[in-house]
Amino acid sequence: MSPTAPEVTGGVNVEELRRALSGPVLGPDDDGYDAARRCFNALVDRRPSVIARCLGAEDVATALGFARAHELEVAVRGGGHNPAGHCVCDGGLVVDLSLMRQVDVDGDARLARAAGGATWLDFDAATQTHGLVTPGGIVGSTGVCGLTLGGGIGHLTAQHGLTCDSLVGAELVTPDGTIVRASADENRELLWGLRGAGGNFGVATRLEFRLYPLETVVGGTLSFAGNGVLDALRRFRDVVAGAPRELSCQAVISVDELLRPALLVAPCYSGSNGVPEELRELRAGSGLVDDGVRRRTFLEQQRVFDSPYGENRHYWKGHFVRDLPDELIDELLRRIAALGRPPGEILIESLHGAPKDDGAPAGAVGFRGAAFNISAMASWQDSALDQEHIAWARATAAAIEPWSWSGGGYVNYMQADEPIERVRAGFGDETFERLRALKLRYDPTNLLRRNQNVPPG
Ligand SMILES: Cc1cc2nc3c(=O)[nH]c(=O)nc-3n(C[C@H](O)[C@H](O)[C@H](O)COP(=O)(O)OP(=O)(O)OC[C@H]3O[C@@H](n4cnc5c(N)ncnc54)[C@H](O)[C@@H]3O)c2cc1C
Repeated sequence: MSPTAPEVTGGVNVEELRRALSGPVLGPDDDGYDAARRCFNALVDRRPSVIARCLGAEDVATALGFARAHELEVAVRGGGHNPAGHCVCDGGLVVDLSLMRQVDVDGDARLARAAGGATWLDFDAATQTHGLVTPGGIVGSTGVCGLTLGGGIGHLTAQHGLTCDSLVGAELVTPDGTIVRASADENRELLWGLRGAGGNFGVATRLEFRLYPLETVVGGTLSFAGNGVLDALRRFRDVVAGAPRELSCQAVISVDELLRPALLVAPCYSGSNGVPEELRELRAGSGLVDDGVRRRTFLEQQRVFDSPYGENRHYWKGHFVRDLPDELIDELLRRIAALGRPPGEILIESLHGAPKDDGAPAGAVGFRGAAFNISAMASWQDSALDQEHIAWARATAAAIEPWSWSGGGYVNYMQADEPIERVRAGFGDETFERLRALKLRYDPTNLLRRNQNVPPG
C-alpha cells in the first residue's frame, strides 16, 4: 500500500483506524482478509469494509467510536461459530476479538477470567491445569463469550447448570465507548441481562466464571442404528427423566452411510460411583453398534464432538419442548427419514438437573423450565441444495412446534431470518420488556443489532 494513497474502501478510511488501533486492521485488499471474514456457516458470505482486530478494551472503544463516527454497521466476532453469521456484516466494521484469548485462573478462589475472544479449548486447557471446570460448550473452537451470553448447554449442564449460571462478573465496552463492569455488587441488572441476552448491551472484553473441581468423567458416545433407534431414543428419554445430576446426556438422530436411521447418545457422568445404573440402562438398547463410553479426562470428553470450520452450509431451527412423548419421537424419526441422507441431524439436549434449581442465579434465559432443546440441523455443501435443506429444517421445526415450551427458540442456534416474535417468545413477554429497558440504557441507538436483537424500548 502506498503511503500517499490511503486505503479507502466503501467510503471507509482503513488507514485512519489503523493509526488509532494498537491491534491489526484489515481491509479488503489485505492479506488475511478472506480468512478473517469467514464464518462457521459457509452459507454466510459477507464482505465488511474493515476488520478491527482488537487487543484490549481500549481498542474495542476505539473501533466502536470509529463505527459511530462513520455510521458503520457493527458486527462482533468472538469464536465465529454463530450459525446466523452474526460475526460478520456487509460493508460495515467487525470488532474482531480473536486475538484476545487470555484465560486467567485463580485456583484458590475457583474463578476464571476469559478475554472476549477466548474459545472453550483455551478455557478448558487453562482451568484443567488446576483440576477445575465450568459447564461450557461441547466443541472446543466455539467462543466462550458468544456461547455464555446466549445461555450455554453442554456436557455438564445437569451437574452445574447453564453456562451463564456460572457467570459471576463481566467487563464490557458499551456502544458509546464506556468501560463498565457487572457483578453481584455492581450493575446487577446488566449481569442479569448478560445471562441470556448478552450480545445486546456491549462488547464483553472479559467474563468471569465460577469453577468446580473435576478431572475425569465417564463419557463418549453410544451409537445405535436401524430398528434399535426407536427403543434407544425412548430409553434416553426415560433415563434422563430420572437421572441424578451427576449425569448429563444429549442425543443426536441422523442417517448413516447405509441410509438407516442412526442415533448417538452422549452421556457425561461425573460421579464417583463407577458406572451408574443409568449408563447400564442406556447401553442395554437393542441396536447398539458401537460403545465408546469409558472413563476419560475432561479434556478428552470435550473433544468427543467436532465440526469443520467454514466448510459446510448450515441452517438450524428448533424448539424447547415440554416433554418428549412417544408421538414426538415418532415424528422426529419420520423427519430424519424425510431428510434421507447424511450429514444433517436432529440434536436433543436434556435440561434436567441443575438448570431447574430454585437457587439458580437470576438471569434473562427463558427456557430453563423446558425438558429438552430439540434442533433440526441441516448441513450440506452444494449451494444447489440450499432451498431443499432449509425447507427440511423449517418443516422439522414446524413438526416439533406442537410440543414447544414457549414457541421460542434457542438464541445461540437461531438463523438471522427468525422473526422478532420467536426471540421474544424465547425469553417470555415480561423478560423481553425488561431486556428492552436495559437495552435502552446501554445501547439506545441499537448499534449492536447484528444479533438476536432486543430493540431498545
Ligand atoms: C460447532 C458448534 C458447536 C456449538 N456447540 C454449542 C454447545 O455445545 N452449547 C451451546 O449452548 N451452544 C453451542 N453452539 C452455539 C454457540 O453457542 C453460538 O453460536 C454462539 O453464538 C457462538 O459464539 P461465538 O463467539 O463462537 O460466535 P460469534 O459468531 O463470534 O459470535 C456470535 C455473537 O455472539 C456475540 N458475541 C460473541 N462474543 C462476544 C463478546 N465478547 N461480547 C459481546 N458479544 C459477543 C455477538 O453478538 C456475536 O455476533 C455451537 C455452535 C457451533 C457452530
